[in-house]
Amino acid sequence: MQRTPLEDWIVERTGISRRSREALEEYQLRKIMETVQFARRHSRFYQEQLADVSVISWENVQALPFTYPNQIRRDPNDFLCIPQRDIKRIVTLRSSGTEGEEKRIFFSQGDLDATIDFFQYGMSSLTDESDRVLILFPGASCGSIGDLLGKALKRSGVVCFKHGVITNMEETAKCIVENGITCLSGIPIQILQLSRIKTEIFQKNIRKVLLSADYVPEVLIRELTERCGCRVFTHYGMTEMGYGGGVECQALGGYHMREGDLYIEILNPDTGQPVQDGQMGEVTFTTLTRQAMPLIRYRTGDLASFSPVPCRCGTFLKTMNRVYGRLENQMQICGNSFLHFSQLDEWMLPFSELLDYKACMEHENMLGIEVVFMDGGDFQETLNKISKTIQEKIQRQYGCRMQIRFTRKTNQQENCFNSMEKRKFCR
Ligand SMILES: [Zn+2]
Repeated sequence: MQRTPLEDWIVERTGISRRSREALEEYQLRKIMETVQFARRHSRFYQEQLADVSVISWENVQALPFTYPNQIRRDPNDFLCIPQRDIKRIVTLRSSGTEGEEKRIFFSQGDLDATIDFFQYGMSSLTDESDRVLILFPGASCGSIGDLLGKALKRSGVVCFKHGVITNMEETAKCIVENGITCLSGIPIQILQLSRIKTEIFQKNIRKVLLSADYVPEVLIRELTERCGCRVFTHYGMTEMGYGGGVECQALGGYHMREGDLYIEILNPDTGQPVQDGQMGEVTFTTLTRQAMPLIRYRTGDLASFSPVPCRCGTFLKTMNRVYGRLENQMQICGNSFLHFSQLDEWMLPFSELLDYKACMEHENMLGIEVVFMDGGDFQETLNKISKTIQEKIQRQYGCRMQIRFTRKTNQQENCFNSMEKRKFCR
């Protein structure tokens, strides 16, 4: 098994002389000190937030104040560390439903180049020159995720086509056949939908997939692996990280992180203290090399854990287990228990006639679920089975009874093939 290609990249990029955690952590501490100084000198936000801190040890790092998404929303310009003319891309992130709440993330050319580099090395654990990749992310504008991924693959000599998110299954299937596509890179639920609607084409052509832009349910990975015979790699990242955060190696046991550019902590969301490896907590990161908009101890709201065992690929880099979803993506049920959206995925997505769903708590004991099935079927029996499954699971795990009210939607109504929105409970 090939060791993660990220290791060579990180060793070269950081200039560390030994392949060891100690050497890497020494580098990371030095870069955190530099980042604190740089951010304090150039950004209005950190000038104030870090006015009285000094960092000379890891204990100091653990005492640094956190940065929260709301603080970026309040005034993104306060985070800016370079002159306006040096900004090469601005990404605006809107939280759905809330008006006037926008997060803007700024990038310099150097920031974008670092991401292309990461994608290039990250992708080389799954692709080689014999592959033809279809990119199913937005890629039209310069500096978009699809554009950067395309540039990275081109550098490695891998043929790729920028398709954009799937809006029409027929067109995408045609594109796969006509271009001899062997590898797909896209949004998890869209790739699952494609594999269910265009099973034959998928099974015949697609050997590998890279899933990103949302958490990836385990059931989805199992289905693509077992039913479609694909090798399924997942990537974790967010715009604030500079898109790229971590990617799986050939061991397919969790992500290796971009540790030369990011210092990652996993913290108890309530106390802000680090949790032990193997325990789930909130992913929190500090950028080490970012120019336009460095972020210090940024609370992502994503849930994950570090693996307590070394990766089978033999790297000294850490392994982060696959992200479980968003901290906020849960609903209180049965008194004081919480139902996480990821649990619903594991219960519902195994029904292969289902394409997508939305869920809301309508009131205390009533779960409202909108379902989208494949075209051309009644599926009442499936609906009964789904209902029974959820009720049994909730009864067994939480000890209470839950009513479920289903609403049927069609593809067109839901526009479910045209969404970059993360899957979550509606409020
Ligand atoms: Zn590995």
